[in-house]
Amino acid sequence: MTGHGPRPDRLVVAGGHVLTMDPATGDLPRADVLVENGRIADVRQDIEAPGAERIDARHCLVLPGFVDTHRHMWQAVLRGYGADQTLEEYFGATLHAYGSSLGPGELHLGNLLSALGALDAGVTTVQDISNATKSTEEHTDALVDALEESGIRAVFAYGHGPEADARRIRSRRLHSADALVTMALNAELGGDASVRRDWGLARELGIPLALHVRGGQPLSRLRRLGLLRPGTVYIHGTGLDRGELKLIADSGGALSIAPAIEMTMGHGLPPFAAAASAGLRPSLSADVEVAAGSDLFGQMRTAFQVSRFAVLHRHDDAPDRLPTSRDILEFATIEGARALGLDDRIGSLTPGKQADLVVLRADRPGVVPVHDAVKTVVCAMDRADVDTVLVAGRIVKRAGHLLRPDLAALVDRAAAVRDRLTG
Ligand SMILES: [Zn+2]
Repeated sequence: MTGHGPRPDRLVVAGGHVLTMDPATGDLPRADVLVENGRIADVRQDIEAPGAERIDARHCLVLPGFVDTHRHMWQAVLRGYGADQTLEEYFGATLHAYGSSLGPGELHLGNLLSALGALDAGVTTVQDISNATKSTEEHTDALVDALEESGIRAVFAYGHGPEADARRIRSRRLHSADALVTMALNAELGGDASVRRDWGLARELGIPLALHVRGGQPLSRLRRLGLLRPGTVYIHGTGLDRGELKLIADSGGALSIAPAIEMTMGHGLPPFAAAASAGLRPSLSADVEVAAGSDLFGQMRTAFQVSRFAVLHRHDDAPDRLPTSRDILEFATIEGARALGLDDRIGSLTPGKQADLVVLRADRPGVVPVHDAVKTVVCAMDRADVDTVLVAGRIVKRAGHLLRPDLAALVDRAAAVRDRLTG
């Protein structure tokens, strides 16, 4: 089971203002997007598609689904719980308190709620940095089951479990690079022996790595160990010594900035300016739903504000050029796809790519008149404007409603879990 909505063989998203995020095509003020067998077949004006399912996108913006490159999805069962916590408080009162005590049912619900919250907000791909303790295979399977059932595109970054279990998931469940849910390894920087072991495991399994880096010279250290690998996602990158972000760029790595959490929990200034100076285009992430929303509109807004603030106030490392709303929209779409190594498949509305796209209503009181589509998305829209969402051609949200028959039951289960955990 991969989602609940219908997946027509042929459908056309008709008459919208299309932001392809593909420089070869650019923005098309009125165009159709033809989807065939889950892939984008054509993007242009006046496509004839007799018999195709039709989604009316007049008065709407059409763009690729948003990509979140770092989210601890199981924590959706604790939404709002840690909003006033600092990072140290979060480690103790949230991560360590609950990360090893939740059962498979609760972890399943967390991942499922997180995925559905993302889809509802037009986030069609999430990298799940799975840092719940995997005490049994049942725990791990529950987390993967939820991702597969939700219909979202996800990278399951396996963490906090035994190597044998990671090998099992890779060989028995997440072995295909073409599947909707693929695999990475979440490893963190411990002692040299454990780093060598973890990096060796990722190489053996043929999967990318994702890790948190904050402060100091973690990249220089990995270089000394001979472990700088292309395709690695480095999370946060706050407070790194000069030159470290350049090592990410030069080694073919990617950066995931979680601007809201970095500012409210105390990681440090989100390193947009330093990344720009290092020639690194970052991606965006929500990180923890215990203290951040499950959408990327909020993250885009925070990114826009703090990245411009750093330049306008001439912070260290700030480049001369002010970031624009288009930069930010690229971070939330195509750069997210690049960070996850999925840019051959998603991140822009390019013929041949998977049909992961969102239709945003541009005729609501909070967004009219639309002078500029990109600026409107980044500065004025939110999940209420998300009308329709497709993942690989499957319609998971339509006319403002998630197509999921069991939503009411899930809401009840979420409340019951909350009462049991913190009541
Ligand atoms: Zn994190």
